[in-house]
Amino acid sequence: MSLVNKLAEERRARLAAERLLELKQAELSAANRKLGRHALALTRQIGEKQAEVATVRDENEKVKSDLTVANAKIEVAERRLWHSIQTIEDGFAFFDAESRLIGANTAYLNVFDGLDEVAPGITYKRILQLMAEEGIIDTGSLSCQDWQGMMHDRWVSPSPEPVVLRLWNDQYVKMVDQRGLGGDVVSLALNITSTVRYEAELRAAREKAEAANRAKSAFLANMSHEIRTPMNGVVGMAELLCDTVLDEEQKLYANTIKSSGEALLVIINDVLDYSKIEADKMTLHPEPFDLERCIHEVTMLMQPTIRNKALSLVIDYDLFLPTLFVGDPGRVRQVLTNLIGNAVKFTSEGHVVIRVTGVPDPVVGRCAIHVAIEDTGIGIPKAKLGHIFGEFNQVENDRNRQFDGTGLGLAITRRLIQIMGGTVWVESEEGRGSCFGFRVTLSMSDEQQPVLPSFPKQLRNVLVVDHLAVNREILSRQLSQLSVSVICCASAAEASQKMDDEVDLVLCDFDMPAMDGLELTQKLRNRGWAEIPVLLLSSNPASVQNHPGRGHVQGILQKPLPRAELFARLSKLVSGQPTQAIPSSPERESRESDLPESDTVPVARRKMRILAAEDNRTNQLVFSKMLKSLDIDLRFASNGLEALEVWREFRPDLIFMDISMPKMDGKQATVEIRRQEAGTGRHVPIVALTAHAMTGDSEGILAAGLDHYLTKPLRKDLILARILESQPSDSLPICPGNAT
Ligand code: ADP
Repeated sequence: MSLVNKLAEERRARLAAERLLELKQAELSAANRKLGRHALALTRQIGEKQAEVATVRDENEKVKSDLTVANAKIEVAERRLWHSIQTIEDGFAFFDAESRLIGANTAYLNVFDGLDEVAPGITYKRILQLMAEEGIIDTGSLSCQDWQGMMHDRWVSPSPEPVVLRLWNDQYVKMVDQRGLGGDVVSLALNITSTVRYEAELRAAREKAEAANRAKSAFLANMSHEIRTPMNGVVGMAELLCDTVLDEEQKLYANTIKSSGEALLVIINDVLDYSKIEADKMTLHPEPFDLERCIHEVTMLMQPTIRNKALSLVIDYDLFLPTLFVGDPGRVRQVLTNLIGNAVKFTSEGHVVIRVTGVPDPVVGRCAIHVAIEDTGIGIPKAKLGHIFGEFNQVENDRNRQFDGTGLGLAITRRLIQIMGGTVWVESEEGRGSCFGFRVTLSMSDEQQPVLPSFPKQLRNVLVVDHLAVNREILSRQLSQLSVSVICCASAAEASQKMDDEVDLVLCDFDMPAMDGLELTQKLRNRGWAEIPVLLLSSNPASVQNHPGRGHVQGILQKPLPRAELFARLSKLVSGQPTQAIPSSPERESRESDLPESDTVPVARRKMRILAAEDNRTNQLVFSKMLKSLDIDLRFASNGLEALEVWREFRPDLIFMDISMPKMDGKQATVEIRRQEAGTGRHVPIVALTAHAMTGDSEGILAAGLDHYLTKPLRKDLILARILESQPSDSLPICPGNAT
């Protein structure tokens, strides 16, 4: 090989070595760079870890210090809690799930004074054993064993009932134990000694009060009986005396005896009723009754007072409201008598309107009834409206002082309505009048509600004449609801002007200023309306009977008149047809007597037979004198046995039965009569006469089979009402010449 070639080869080898060196150097520096980066990352990571470690160390420090603070707080809270538990006067202890005592306050431990064993760790069972065996508690009628067994069973139950323990020192503790989560039990021993003593005192006081109340009730029952019996003689004889020929002075004396006796009875009744309500002894005796008729009966009794005043009494009974309900008619009547009686008493002129509306619910068979009694009397100051419902409360002012009263009527009324589940309310303006009302919900009777007569087509136009707007409004509304067109006139003069040939009937008030109803009729007849039927309305029809113009009218109706009767009369007059039967009522007799001859009752064959069983001779005398003017066959029996005999052979249409009689009392006699009547289809009405007026009396009486109940002293009008109600259709009129 040439030198040149060798040199070239060396050069090539050197170049290759240099290139390799360069390559290796590049690789080396790349590896160095990578190493540098790595070292950097590691350094950073170390830094971060160091920072984290520092943070954790800090946090640990903080947690440590927080823990110390928390521990200190817990210690304080625990100390406070324990201090509080120690301070309470009642015993406090807690047990673990194994029923071992964890801790207890001094009050709890004090009971075990001297027994060092009672300390944390002792079981509940051992505590019970110590209590019983060491005589710490009075186990009463139980043996020590039984007592421990009873207490242990109680303790292990999931939620132990509180139990009262009597300690050896006559202290009472109530144990209240509460099982918590995990089985721990907190046990409270409440010292209830003062409560137990107080309860014992209360019990003793209540027993004493009940005994006194029983004595009071017995006294009231006796007083009621003892006062009523002689009062029957006083009031009854005074009433009879008033019917005899007396000079003016004697009349005054007799009337005073009668009215004072009656006033005394009202007071006795009020006080008796109130004490019955107070003693929660007032019970209701629901039975079917006719509300509309009940209102009319109450107002009938007030007619004499109304007639002595320039007062008109109007009943506005919603035309479409049923009248037969189930309730206690006696108590409903009492409420109505109080409210209507007050309205009449505190009103000297103007009117008293009784409005009855209601919302029947045929689905449940009940009806919400709303009765309002409006008057135009003295009214009540606003500030006294709440006061007057309190017992013995009256408005104390000069106007009010002129009126008698006990101040119990409204208190009794409110309580009675409350017992019926209703409410009473009042609105009033002093000097203008008052409106008292009540709402009650009563069941509707299953009996057929009275149907209003269907009106004949010929009755299209009725002329209503009344100077009182309220009367015109009610009559006009009632007639319009029956599709009759009504022409209202406020005076006879206006009626005389408006009268024309279209009018089918005139319904006219009698007592009108300027020209009365009869004068108007006379005038109309003179002007050629000889055939148009005219019906007069008067609150005292008897006073019009003998009036010379009486013959010009077709009838004189007693105001207020039940709707059914008014419509029956109107319909009858226009159609000339007898109307369908309407429920009979005592007042109806007098109204029917106003009909022309041809309209009156069927031919009578015999007198009505009445039996009165009464052992007291004075009362027999009073009774017979009261009924002296009636055309009836009256017989007496002196005891229940005699009453039975007379009933068998005399076949009375009605029996008045005294309750307390020798040999056989009125209740027994009635039971016997009802027994003998059973299956014969007969049922003689029997009315109890009794001097007892306390609750419970009427229950026993009605349960014995008597139909009605009258308390003594007997009132002629009430007896008469019962007689008229039971009068058989084949008997002679009981009031010859005058139906009442
Ligand atoms: P009494 O009527 O026996 O005084 P109440 O309890 O029935 O007792 O009534 C209490 C009082 O309420 C009455 O004395 C009277 O002051 C007032 N009062 C009741 N009703 C009316 C009324 N319609 N108009 C005016 N005052 C009345």
